[in-house]
Amino acid sequence: MYNYVFDPKDYTLEDEIKFHCYKGIVCFNKCCYDVKLVLTPYEFLRLRKALDLGVEEFIEKYGEVYIGEVTQLPVISINMIPYSLACPFLDEKEGCKVYKDRPAPCRLYPLARFVSKNEKGEKKEFFKIIRETHCKGHYENRPIKIKDYLKEQELEPYLYYNDLWGEVVLKRQKFANTPLTGDMLELIFLIAYSLPEFRRSIKNKEIPSFSEDTADLPDEKLLEKGLLYIKDKILTEENLNW
Ligand code: SF4
Ligand code: SF4
Repeated sequence: MYNYVFDPKDYTLEDEIKFHCYKGIVCFNKCCYDVKLVLTPYEFLRLRKALDLGVEEFIEKYGEVYIGEVTQLPVISINMIPYSLACPFLDEKEGCKVYKDRPAPCRLYPLARFVSKNEKGEKKEFFKIIRETHCKGHYENRPIKIKDYLKEQELEPYLYYNDLWGEVVLKRQKFANTPLTGDMLELIFLIAYSLPEFRRSIKNKEIPSFSEDTADLPDEKLLEKGLLYIKDKILTEENLNW
């Protein structure tokens, strides 16, 4: 059961919060149990590379893949350790073993970020503060602007790639009543979560929409191209209006 409340106020980047989390705080690690960690493609890539694991190896060891109920897009989530419900990346003494590559929700905490676009396509974002009884970081007297907190937590690439994935999800929701074909699902998984195989398929000219030199792009660039392709070329009205 998740026992948290949001502050009623909506915060902007310029607003200040009071929060500090550090090794040695009385609640150290308490937030790393019973967490619902659903990985975006970029978060999956960062973690998988940090742990030097192949796609299937990672999933077998730490998570599971399923089809999202609403979006019907593939989802990868992390399984907590049975009984203790600890995150599998937690070292009880030292803290997060994948700290440098931890997913965005772990970086953002105690903030939740909401993004929308207006009619002109301009992005708007606001934040809510999450309060949970176990988290004592709120009582630390460290004022910090939200924009500085995001910088401190090195969120910039996460927000960029996760927003791109968010646009894919939004596009899919537009046509939520039309099921995706097996071929579409396979291609979306390949592009979003299986970059080595995606790269190999491009090299072997199995996906003609991508020129051969695309296969030589660095992972992040390839992922960016791939996510745009899913949004603009796979999830189109033409493809989904059948
Ligand atoms: S990834 Fe790290 S910070 Fe996030 S829940 Fe797991 S141990 Fe905690
Ligand atoms: S202050 Fe909050 S985020 Fe930091 S360790 Fe404690 S419970 Fe976790």
